[in-house]
Amino acid sequence: MDPVILDRIEFNPSTANIFRKLHVKKGSNNEGLVLELVEEADRISRPRAMYTIAGIEKRDDTGVVLGGIRMESRVMQVNLNDVHRVFPYLTTSGREMYEWTQSKDDLLEKYYAEEISQMALRAAGEALLSHLKETYQLGKTASMNPGSLEDWPITAQTSLFKLLGNPEQAIGVKLLGSMLMIPNQTVSGIRFVSDSDFSNCELCPRDNCSHRRDQYDQNLLNSKYQ
Ligand code: SF4
Repeated sequence: MDPVILDRIEFNPSTANIFRKLHVKKGSNNEGLVLELVEEADRISRPRAMYTIAGIEKRDDTGVVLGGIRMESRVMQVNLNDVHRVFPYLTTSGREMYEWTQSKDDLLEKYYAEEISQMALRAAGEALLSHLKETYQLGKTASMNPGSLEDWPITAQTSLFKLLGNPEQAIGVKLLGSMLMIPNQTVSGIRFVSDSDFSNCELCPRDNCSHRRDQYDQNLLNSKYQ
């Protein structure tokens, strides 16, 4: 299937939410700067998403073949045991916001701009999830992201991008040789139907990660995935 592009994603965060996220109080010295940035972001932001559907063509103990491309991952093989298709995807804050953050020389201004871009990325993720749930009548879903686990390393980005065709042309997301993506506020992954409440963080032993959503669970890793 040709990839589907979502390029009319709304991003209208309330100023109250932005002040909360940036820990800025109304009436404080930085209020004016934040309001200025919100106005700029409102003018230029264009978060986007894209996805495709890939059938699971083969499975063995160490991985699966999705849409003709092999993914080496024991965790993925276990997670996809009961499904026959997945949704490879990208969500991004968009090139416009990336260039906007890059144009900021002042460190505080750049930090605020990055945080606002992160909110735009989250809006893209929520829009994609709603679209998938409505269009394909999906129930509970989970997501795996290359590089989150040793089991599915960051080098899998190359295979994921192949599944998606030409993301740079489609939504302006470029994969660098280092496997990082431009814009930096971009998430890549595969989404699939799952009743298991799978979370990458439960299998990730990394210390001091500010994005951690769930506790590391070594027992789960040993009992289910090894
Ligand atoms: S703990 Fe951090 S690095 Fe590990 S999977 Fe969760 S968010 Fe990613």
